[in-house]
Amino acid sequence: MKKLIYCSALLLFIAGCSQQQPSETAGDNEGQGEVINEAVAAEDTESENTQTETDTSTEEEPAGNDEEDKESLEEEVKEPLYTINEANWSVQPIGDANEKVALLTIDDAPDKHALEMAETLKSLDAPAIFFVNGHFLDTDEEKEILKKIHEMGFPIGNHTATHASLPDLTEEEQRAEIVELNELITSVIGEKPKFFRAPFGQNTDYSKSLAKSEGMTLMNWTYGYDWEAQYQNKEGIADIMVNTELLSNGANLLMHDRTWTNEAMADIVNGLRDKGFEILDPELIQTPQ
Ligand SMILES: [Zn+2]
Repeated sequence: MKKLIYCSALLLFIAGCSQQQPSETAGDNEGQGEVINEAVAAEDTESENTQTETDTSTEEEPAGNDEEDKESLEEEVKEPLYTINEANWSVQPIGDANEKVALLTIDDAPDKHALEMAETLKSLDAPAIFFVNGHFLDTDEEKEILKKIHEMGFPIGNHTATHASLPDLTEEEQRAEIVELNELITSVIGEKPKFFRAPFGQNTDYSKSLAKSEGMTLMNWTYGYDWEAQYQNKEGIADIMVNTELLSNGANLLMHDRTWTNEAMADIVNGLRDKGFEILDPELIQTPQ
């Protein structure tokens, strides 16, 4: 810590002293708040799980108790700056928060690629929500992957225990799909999910109210393509996710734990940023109290 103080004192003279700080600037607002039609699409089905790589990047936190440290440890709780518009599932700014944002979401995790996707996103300082399925959390290895993704800073969402279509289930079964997965996720990562996405985007009145009473924000998506045959390749999905006419302010992008989406992830993030979109920090989205 002393070093740091010295460092700042000599800041004018020593060039190499500056600290790298990934900053997410909430830009100003321009443009209009248009909204998009909903992409109703059959999501996908799931496959059986296997594990892949397992390295994590550990963050180093300087230890100490100086004033500067207190500042850097500012409380994690962020003031909500966005809400989800349940009419079209876009992200809406509150007040003068930046309108030109895109939310990244990855469903059916953690299957084969979620950890690698998280690593790519992390290296680009791009936040995203990982919506997880209970049937991908059967083994300790799978749970460990989930924990790593969470520890890398990604919010974990509930995508039900078995990915069943909720309208086909009794209320009791729907409760089991949602609440049991919340309990499982909580036991692994130490906190409850703040977001809920129904399989295939199919909610019931009961699942909506249950998810909210569990403290989760309901969320479908505004568009996604990676389940369509023509986009099941790196170039195709990278192109359509960025160049679709459905991309507009507050877009809520649905992607999956899939080979081609994994391969295209960096191109998607860079493409969105090249178009001036801020990749939204999901922690800024309001959740039910
Ligand atoms: Zn799904």
